[in-house]
Amino acid sequence: MESPLRLGNSKISGTGVFATKVISTGEFICLMNGKEVSLKEVGELEIIGTQREGDALQIDVDSYLIIEEIYRCVNHSCSPNAFIRGKNELIALRSIANGEEITFDYSTTMWEDATQIKKLFNEDIWTMNCSCKSDECRKEIKQFYELPEKIQEKYLRLNAVPDFILKLKGLSQCLEVIHQKAKFQ
Ligand SMILES: [Zn+2]
Repeated sequence: MESPLRLGNSKISGTGVFATKVISTGEFICLMNGKEVSLKEVGELEIIGTQREGDALQIDVDSYLIIEEIYRCVNHSCSPNAFIRGKNELIALRSIANGEEITFDYSTTMWEDATQIKKLFNEDIWTMNCSCKSDECRKEIKQFYELPEKIQEKYLRLNAVPDFILKLKGLSQCLEVIHQKAKFQ
């Protein structure tokens, strides 16, 4: 596989994914490849124990990718250096040094409905404690819509969320406003 990545010991959690070259802001890093499944199927996989909870990458309201092992090792950070664009492209949010751990904010790819989760699996919606150690650490990883408005706006402004989040957030209108503003500046 031709990608600028290697696995290594993470200071954040367990095994992490590290850059093997300098990656510039906005540069494509890799596709987070995997098998596409529904929410129900994710739940079933978790129940039979082949899938650790939270390892599925959400790509739409009822679509997930059971991502390949190396991509599962990309850790979360509340102050990430990468993000997911489109469906499953991992892109550099800022310049990444050779040898630096690559992270994205898991909340930017999470938009689940608590009622639906309860109905399907009789479980509470997934959250995870965070110990990313960044100054901006929120301590708990939650759904995108649960993020403080300011953080949601920051990610939207940077265009650093996948398509389905844009869709759900009604970005078309936001973009129009941003473009209008830009025109008059
Ligand atoms: Zn954190």
